[in-house]
This record gives sequence, C-alpha cells and structure tokens, in this order.
Amino acid sequence: MKNFLYKNFKIKKELGQNFLIDYNVKNNIINYINLKENDTIFEIGPGFGHLTEFLFKHVKKLSVIEIDDKLTYFLKKKFFNKRINIFNKNVLKFNFFKYNTSNNLIRIVGNLPYNISVPIIFHCLSFIKIIKDIHFMVQYEVGNKISAPVNNKFYSKLSIFVQYYFLVKKIFKIDSKSFYPSPKVKSYFIKLIPRKKNIYKKININNFKYIVSTAFQQRRKILKNSLSKIFSENTLINLGINPFLRAQNLTILEYCVLTENFSK
Ligand code: SAM
Repeated sequence: MKNFLYKNFKIKKELGQNFLIDYNVKNNIINYINLKENDTIFEIGPGFGHLTEFLFKHVKKLSVIEIDDKLTYFLKKKFFNKRINIFNKNVLKFNFFKYNTSNNLIRIVGNLPYNISVPIIFHCLSFIKIIKDIHFMVQYEVGNKISAPVNNKFYSKLSIFVQYYFLVKKIFKIDSKSFYPSPKVKSYFIKLIPRKKNIYKKININNFKYIVSTAFQQRRKILKNSLSKIFSENTLINLGINPFLRAQNLTILEYCVLTENFSK
C-alpha cells in the first residue's frame, strides 16, 4: 500500500498529506469530471501525482500547484519532458489570472489538504470570473456544510457564503480507507459551478457577511434577538422577514434583502 512512497519520504500531516490510493475512486472521479482534450486544468496539491497521471491522459493543458519541495522535485522527475506546468507554490497565494495562459475558462481539481480546504475555496472565489468549474475532495463535514440548503441542520455561514457565488453539488462519499494514511474522517467529492447569472442581487458583500455572521453567532436565538443590534423587529416585519425565525431558516435571498436595507 505504501509502495508509492519513495525512500525517506516523511508524510507531513501539517500539509494534509493523505494520498488517494484507491484506483476505482480515481477512475470514478475522472469519469465524473468528463474531461475534454482542450480543457485547461489546474490541480491543487498533486502530491505524488496519483490523480495527475489520470488528468494528464485526457487533457493537453495541465498545471499543478504543490507546496512541498520534495514532492515537487519528485513530480518534476516523474513528468520530465511532459507537457505539465509544475508550480512549487502555496495555492493560497497562487494567482490563477497570471498563470492561465489560455483563453479558456479554467477547471480546478484537487484532493485538498483538509486543514485548509475552506480557505482554498475562498481563495478560488477571487478568480471566479475565469473558472468553469471546480471539483474537490473535502472532508465530509465541509461537504455537508457547503452544500446544505436552508433549514438543514448543516446550513451555516459557510453554506451561504459559498452558495451565493456557486451552485454546489455533493457527488459521492469517499471512505477514509481510500487514502494513505487514512484520515480520521470520511470525505466528499464535490462540484462547484459559478452561478452564470447570479440569481442574487448585487449587494455590499462585507455588509452581507456581517449580517449573516451576526445572525449565526447566536443561531439558537430568534432573529429579533440575534439581529437586534442591526434591525428592529418592525424593520424585519416591514422587509417581510418573520422575526421569530432563526438564522438557519432564512434563505440567501432573504439575507440579501436584509443587506440591501442595511446598506441604504
Ligand atoms: N493529490 C494527491 C493525492 O490525491 O494523492 C495528494 C493530496 S493530499 C490530500 C494534499 C496535497 O496538497 C499534498 O500533496 C500537500 O503537500 C499539498 N498541499 C498542502 N498545502 C498546500 C498548499 N498550501 N498549496 C499547495 N499544495 C498544498
């Protein structure tokens, strides 16, 4: 099982190094992504290139971003002379605008380092204009939170902030045994598609975040209490918001309505 690890390689837990070793899972992922030869693909955290070699077979333009110097060195040897751009960089500082040399929208793929999966998703947000879609493996809990609809027990700030920009689909669960070393939690393979025509109004995003965060800070309280510093009960009623609901009962659209009113 460990025979892909080259001699003396020490797994770095702090870099979320759980390598995907299950052939069927890799195959299912690649089939699901439905790659086209002319796609422009960026892979985050290629590790030993387990997914990379599959991606490579299908597309002409492939770039990978790996922070670990040793893995980058390994990848450069493994893919020597092949048409892959290998960046030894921290993805959280990676400028996709700068490195997308094609005219295509880009497709981002990755079995993410779980400790920074949410910051990575937010980083990608800054490049939404040039993104066609995103396919990530994330921890089970993050998959549930990101995709949760209103009134669901997992519906949270994260669901709202991400779904404001993206349509989110949970594709399938992945057992922890599919990775080496096995993480403590199961995983989800998810897809994020930028909303082409945003169904939500253009709002001041900082105010939106402020209102959503305030409501969820005391998620068990009814809105007239949790939002009392920002809106009076009457204002909520006038805006068509039931003040006796709780943070998890408001749709994204309703948070937009609140934000619009706050900004005036
Ligand atoms: N894709 C490989 C696989 O599935 O076997 C490895 C996935 S492993 C979960 C996460 C990978 O992301 C590791 O190779 C790790 O070194 C890399 N990584 C961690 N933090 C990173 C960062 N900030 N920027 C780029 N790569 C990072």
